[in-house]
Order: sequence, then structure tokens, then C-alpha cells
Amino acid sequence: MPIRFDILTTFPEMFATEPPGALALSIPDRARRAGLVEWHATNIRDFTTDKHQKTDDRPFGGGPGMVMSCQPVWDAVCAVEAMDDRPATRVLLTPQGVPLTQPLVEELATMPRLLLLAGHYEGIDERVIRKLDPMEVSIGDFVLSGGELAAIVLMDAVIRLLPGALGDGESAGQDSFSPIGPGGQRLLDCPHYTRPRVWEGEEVPEILLSGDHGRIAAWRLEQSLQRTRERRPDLLAGPPDQPPPA
Ligand code: SAM
Repeated sequence: MPIRFDILTTFPEMFATEPPGALALSIPDRARRAGLVEWHATNIRDFTTDKHQKTDDRPFGGGPGMVMSCQPVWDAVCAVEAMDDRPATRVLLTPQGVPLTQPLVEELATMPRLLLLAGHYEGIDERVIRKLDPMEVSIGDFVLSGGELAAIVLMDAVIRLLPGALGDGESAGQDSFSPIGPGGQRLLDCPHYTRPRVWEGEEVPEILLSGDHGRIAAWRLEQSLQRTRERRPDLLAGPPDQPPPA
């Protein structure tokens, strides 16, 4: 059965397949066509009881911007959850959430159904967030205009991990942040090269032309370790509750 994403948004067009939105191209589109994933975007505006179809209002206490109201968000979530028997894991995209990391992406990829709630304006009324009690996820320490792009990032990262999503010769297991280190550490990927052998006077590393797969694998691992040490030493330090690898 395909993993199911439900996106609750005021901009469902961003998830369209015809004409193609960001996910209806490349690997996510291939996975969708192969029946590995389905997604449904629902417009929160369809659930407002406000006569002007408003989904937001001015903030109590004053200040700039608007706040998404409880009622349309709550009713949209209830209606969408009833569309499928599978229970949905609720995810709110917010800059205040836990960082979206590869281990979290791997965990999300095992779930049968994810409901992604995209905020806009100043955000969503805190009372409905508390009542929904979602997992709160951030795609980085910066602020987007809305949660849709964050939802698309999360979906793309999850979809490419679904078995069969990548074509022959492609492997998510070798990518950056996969546990490819000798002690299972998550490392950065090694550098890659393709033809021509010499470009602008720069040669491809000789070892990659040797045909010796054992030595090539060892070289790639060494390159990964070196890059990780230089660029992301925090990855080698391991999680705070675990001792650093020997
Ligand atoms: N006032 C909010 C704050 O400072 O925490 C920011 C609101 S932002 C302009 C509007 C919406 O964009 C948020 O409700 C959230 O859904 C989404 N968003 C913005 N930055 C994000 C990020 N880094 N990760 C995930 N979602 C984000």
C-alpha cells in the first residue's frame, strides 16, 4: 500500500500534479506513478464557516500580521483524517519544531500516513496546535513565508527513501547523512566525477580509473571521513547520549 500524505494548506496548487507542481517531476513523480506514494492537498479555506471565507484574523494583543484561526484548521484536520482508515501521524511545519534530519526522515518513511499542516502569516492559533498535538518539525533555522515549501522538502526526502523509489544504480544508502562510517557513523558523501577524464587541466583521481572496486570503496570511505571531519565534525561526535566513536 502506498504511503499517504495529506497536506492541509491554503495553497493546494503547490502540490498539483497537472500542471506539475514541484513534486510531480523527477523521483517523487516516478514514485507516485509506480504506486509507492499518494498525496492529497486539501484547502483549509474550504472548511471555514466565516462568510468571507477567511481562515485568519488579527492577533489578540495587537501587533503585525494575521493568525490562522482554530475552527477551519480543526475542521479540516478532522475531515481529512476521516478520508482514510489509516491513522495519520500529524506533523506541523514550523520553524520552532525539531530539526528535520535524516534519522527523522527515515522514521517518517516507515509511517503509513502523514498529515502535514502548513501554516501561513504569523502562524496558527496556539490553542488548536495544542489540541491537535502534532509532531512539530522545522526544515532549518530560517523563516519561510509558509509551510508549503517545508512540506515539499519533507515529502521529497521521505519519498526518495521508499523502497523502489530510486532507479537502478541509485542508492539513498550512500548519500550524505547515511550510516556509512565503519562504526555506523553518519558521514557526508564522497566527491563524484564523470567524463571527461581531464577538464580544464584537472584530472579525475587516478584510483577511480583503476577498476579495483575494493580500493575504490576504501578511497571513497576515506574521502567521506575526511570531508566529514572538515565540514561537519559534529556528525562524528555522535549524539550527546553516546560516547564518540573510537
Ligand atoms: N511567526 C512564526 C515564527 O516566528 O515562529 C513564523 C511564521 S512563518 C512566516 C509562516 C509559516 O511558515 C509557519 O507557520 C510555518 O508553517 C512555515 N515555516 C516557516 N519557516 C519554517 C521552517 N523553517 N520550517 C518549517 N516551517 C516553516
